Amino acid sequence: MTTVFIISAPSGSGKSTLTSALIRTVPNIRFSVSYTTRQPRGEEKDGEAYFFIGRAEFEKRVALGEFLEHAEVFGNYYGTHISELARADRDGYDLVLDIDVQGARQLKEKIPAAVSIFVLAPSRQVLEERLRSRGQDSDEVIQRRLREAAEEIRNYFRYDYVLVNQEVAASIDSLVSIVKATRSRRDRMEDSIRPILETFL
Ligand code: 5GP
Repeated sequence: MTTVFIISAPSGSGKSTLTSALIRTVPNIRFSVSYTTRQPRGEEKDGEAYFFIGRAEFEKRVALGEFLEHAEVFGNYYGTHISELARADRDGYDLVLDIDVQGARQLKEKIPAAVSIFVLAPSRQVLEERLRSRGQDSDEVIQRRLREAAEEIRNYFRYDYVLVNQEVAASIDSLVSIVKATRSRRDRMEDSIRPILETFL
């Protein structure tokens, strides 16, 4: 039984560092690779960070009902393909979805047992400093990202967990704890404990 972990955060909150560490630390959990219409950046390879496709193909796949959720984010389409979950279910691992607030909302409606986590920078000032220290963006882009962050943060209340990313090691610890606690839930344990229970009958 696959559990879907949804992680959302504004750009610069440290989400990628946390999710990569989670996947390295906890066994049996993988990234869901999304489809997108945005252009690959830097070293990104097709099928690794994303599957890169054109808008027409994306729209065709939407019409065919191939996505568990999809959304337009900053002018590009992004979507989680149904095969990601089907494969995880078949092969018995959990999935981490790095998706935006619109996608998180759609997914929670479809899969209520999905566990959602919102990652928050400790303050607007810290987020601004992190965006600046990356040295990737112009002043104008940084201001736009901060406005977008404010917009996304307004949706924090839709999530099951909120993680304030003050100190990376502590945040990784919290994230790992959320996954481990979820795996011990009774509904997740039913199948694996049945043989144990039978020995007591
Ligand atoms: P980026 O282009 O920087 O990789 O991602 C931009 C935004 O799109 C991020 O907020 C990321 O969480 C979101 N995103 C990535 N994949 C998906 C997806 O499959 N569905 C949705 N709804 N959002 C996604």
